[in-house]
Amino acid sequence: MGGVWVWLLAIAPLVVHAFPRWDTRTIDVTGKFWHVTDLHVDFSYRLTEDHTKVCLTSKGENASNPGVFGDFLCDSPYQLILSAFQHINKSEQKANFMIWTGDSMPHLPVNDLSTKMVIDMIGNMTTTIRTLLPDLLVYPAFGNHDYWPQDQFPVAGSEVYTAAAEFWKPWLNDDALYTLRKGGYYSQIYRSSPSAQPLRIISLNTNLYYGPNKVTINMTDPAGQFEWLEDTLYASRQHKEKVYIIAHVPIGFLPYFAFTSAIQKPFNERLVTIFRNYSDVLAGQFYGHIHRDSIMVLLNEKENPVGSVFIAPSVTPIRPYEESGNNPGFRIYHYDSNTYNLLDLWHYYLNLTDANLKEEAIWKLEYIMTEIYKIKDLQPDSMEDLVKRFAKPDSLEFKTYYKNHVVQYELEDCVGRCKVLQVCSVQYLDSDSYFKCAQENL
Ligand SMILES: [Zn+2]
Ligand SMILES: [Zn+2]
Repeated sequence: MGGVWVWLLAIAPLVVHAFPRWDTRTIDVTGKFWHVTDLHVDFSYRLTEDHTKVCLTSKGENASNPGVFGDFLCDSPYQLILSAFQHINKSEQKANFMIWTGDSMPHLPVNDLSTKMVIDMIGNMTTTIRTLLPDLLVYPAFGNHDYWPQDQFPVAGSEVYTAAAEFWKPWLNDDALYTLRKGGYYSQIYRSSPSAQPLRIISLNTNLYYGPNKVTINMTDPAGQFEWLEDTLYASRQHKEKVYIIAHVPIGFLPYFAFTSAIQKPFNERLVTIFRNYSDVLAGQFYGHIHRDSIMVLLNEKENPVGSVFIAPSVTPIRPYEESGNNPGFRIYHYDSNTYNLLDLWHYYLNLTDANLKEEAIWKLEYIMTEIYKIKDLQPDSMEDLVKRFAKPDSLEFKTYYKNHVVQYELEDCVGRCKVLQVCSVQYLDSDSYFKCAQENL
């Protein structure tokens, strides 16, 4: 008898843990997930009198105002990365999972880097996340800098894919790891409760389609990813799943260069077509890469809104290609645990100048999307209503959007040509409609 009681006592906590009582009347139906992207760690960052030598990523230029947490001419010091994950660790917002959409390596010339450095960096960042957030499930995606030479992602396996699959074993199942090793992409089911509809996370390797990738330039289906994506979405529809797409390089057109998509145009068209065809299954798309807080609304052929697309800004403050840097940022999305419909997004940021001055990283809430833009949720209809307001002359919503776009970095207002490019890129993701918008308004 005594033996039975010992056994019951030992197993009781496990039973409670394994079979939580899901009471649909009392359960909080809001689920949450973090989105972190573009860490770009500069391992050379150090504070020194000679400002040309603060970081290799300033490429010999004087760092502007270097401090413990970084500089707008440099990629992230490790202290900045740590402070971001420490903030998430201490946050009152309890997330179900995190998406991490790539680019851990610094912006350095190809000869200064190597495959080993890329693998070490992915391993180092994975360990950092797992150490600070040991209980959090993370869905990663590769960024164009997570390869050597950068951007040249291959179509049939690689040392980097194999190494990442080892690092990400604690988060991904065997099926996911299999396609990850093969082509750098995967899908995996997440369930918010045993009775809830399943959510499928599809992590695409859009680096295969990225403009500067010379390996895939004349291919029709690099690494068989299109066929796999369509098969996966077809099966999701059959099984009544919902899908979030996560990837690094976004679909659509860049908001700061005219007539330029990040993804090679034929690949962009194909992705837009697939996402339109499966808009009933897709509940959201999440990207990084452009280092700017951006939204896009996917319209179908009849110009009805059918998809919500989000680009999170980078953690790195560097300004690699344009006039503007950005304050470091990351966000948490709120979703309906039963339908996976997106309800809201809370965006957090670090005022880099203040943080350096105080030598303390105080991450703050920058905005709550439904409140700042007065929309009821993040569904395609609400998003479409918002971007239509952007287009109006002197739109206050657009002014707010542009401040958020660079995460409160000091910048002139975006008017004239700047605004046309922004407004066209948030509304039109395929070539025909984007070109029409840009040509008619520029
Ligand atoms: Zn990046
Ligand atoms: Zn990138």
